[in-house]
Amino acid sequence: MSTLNKQQHMSITLQLQDIQTTLPDHVTLVAVSKTKPISDIMEAYNAGQRVFGENKIQEMCDKFEEMPKDIQWHMIGHVQRNKVKYMAPFVSLIHGVDNFKLLKEINKQAKANDRTINCLLQIKIAEEDSKFGMSLNEASELLKSDAFLDLKHINITGVMGMATFTDNMTQVENEFNTLQKAFNHLKDLQPENTVFKTISMGMSGDYKLAITCGSTMVRVGSSIFGERNYKA
Ligand SMILES: *Cc1c(COP(=O)(O)O)cnc(C)c1O
Repeated sequence: MSTLNKQQHMSITLQLQDIQTTLPDHVTLVAVSKTKPISDIMEAYNAGQRVFGENKIQEMCDKFEEMPKDIQWHMIGHVQRNKVKYMAPFVSLIHGVDNFKLLKEINKQAKANDRTINCLLQIKIAEEDSKFGMSLNEASELLKSDAFLDLKHINITGVMGMATFTDNMTQVENEFNTLQKAFNHLKDLQPENTVFKTISMGMSGDYKLAITCGSTMVRVGSSIFGERNYKA
């Protein structure tokens, strides 16, 4: 048991460095630490990693409390509106914004905390029905709306997408290209309250392909921390 732990412990640093050295300078690595214990995250922190992604608000808040305060916490999962208030004081970037009501709540909670919260619009690029996200059309309508202009405490910094879970890399590539095109289209609208710079796409299995398709932010979990055990 202890030997196994030690091996796992060492490999986090090595795997992180391995990935970091292959990333172009313009690509940000979000280390996806969901389900992983503080000790694992500290290992990555001590190896220099400062950006971490979680998909449950409560878990992210607990980790925020216990961990060094120079960590940038990204919410990468589906966001429930009634829980926005818990992360509003500290969250660095919310990836999965896919409706106006949610954006309005984020704006309200950001204002209450006297800050501006950075958000990405999640665009639906996968064929699967299970994935969240807006159509490109819905996203443009949102950015062009008068109601959006009133949200002074949010800053849309780009888009996020999740490709279909498949071995068919041609399909994944097409979906990534769709997101890159959506980004360019929305950026060209030059809406207020936005600084379009981020395309968040690519996970452990496909982040290299995502980068060739224009990704500027990859969300990598299992290739750094190992497989997740959801029963633990
Ligand atoms: C879990 C998760 C990831 C990381 O997945 P890996 O395959 O472990 O790299 C990336 N993005 C989102 C939205 C996730 O929920």
